[in-house]
Amino acid sequence: MTDKKILFGTAGVPNSTQKKNNPIEGVKRIHELGLDCMQLEFAHGVRMKEEVSSGLRKISYELGVPLTSHGPYYINLNAREQDKIDSSVERIIQTAKISDLCGAESMTFHAAFYMKDSPLDVFDLVEKSINVIEERLSRLDIEIELRPELTGKTSQFGSLEELISLTKNIDSCRPCMDFSHLYARTGNFNTEQEFDDVLGVLKQELGAHSLNNMHIHISGISTNSKGDLKHLNLEKSKFDWKALLRSLKRSGCEGYMICNSPNLEEDALMLKEYYHTL
Ligand SMILES: [Zn+2]
Repeated sequence: MTDKKILFGTAGVPNSTQKKNNPIEGVKRIHELGLDCMQLEFAHGVRMKEEVSSGLRKISYELGVPLTSHGPYYINLNAREQDKIDSSVERIIQTAKISDLCGAESMTFHAAFYMKDSPLDVFDLVEKSINVIEERLSRLDIEIELRPELTGKTSQFGSLEELISLTKNIDSCRPCMDFSHLYARTGNFNTEQEFDDVLGVLKQELGAHSLNNMHIHISGISTNSKGDLKHLNLEKSKFDWKALLRSLKRSGCEGYMICNSPNLEEDALMLKEYYHTL
C-alpha cells in the first residue's frame, strides 16, 4: 500500500541548525532538509518557556512536522528512596504536560534501573507508577502516548518482553521500539528474519494496529562487555539498518522513526532515502 508510511526525523534539533538551542529553528530546519518529524529532547531537564512551546505547536502544525519527545535521563521508578520515585513520576508528568503543550502525541522515557532487584518486582513497581501517571494525566485531560523505551543496557528495565507485558496492561502505554538497543541488549536481532520475528510478536501480542502507530529509535551502536553503549553513525556500526527498513516496509509499519546517531540528520536522510527506494 502506497499510503503506508514511516516519518523520519532527528532526536533533537538537527546539527546543521543555525541556532542549535532553539527547537523552533530545529523544526524549520527539519522541513528544509526534507525530513518529516522531530523529537524534543528533555534529557537534562523539562523546562520550556511558554512562548517556545506555543511557537513549537504552531510551526509544527504549519509545516506539517509532527513532534515526539524524550523525558529526562534521571528517571528511576525503582529508586531506593520513595522521594526519588515520586520525583521520577513528577518528571514524567512534567514531560507529558510540556509535550502536550507543544502538540506532541508520543513521548518516550527510560523507566527504571533494576538495581539488582528481581525483574518481576521491578516490573510491578514500574506498572504501579505508570498507572498513577496515567490516571493523573487523564485528570489533567492530557492525551499522550506513554512510551517506555526498549533500553540498551541489561541494568535497565525495558526488555522487549517487559515492554510488551506493560503495554498490554496499561491503556495509554505503547513500546518505544529502539531496534539499536534491542541489538545491543541481546547481541541478536540484526537480520531481516529476526526483525520480521519481532514485528510478528508485536502484531500477535499487541494487535495489528501496533504496527500502524510506531515510535522507533535507530542509530549505529557499539557495545562492550560491560554493556556500555556508544551511539555511532550507521555506516560505522554493524547494525543492519537496511534489513530493518525492508522488514518494516514489508510489514506495512507506520509511525515515527527517530534517528539518534551523532550525525542526526545525515543518517535520518540516508534512512529516508533508502526507505523510499523500497
Ligand atoms: Zn532514550
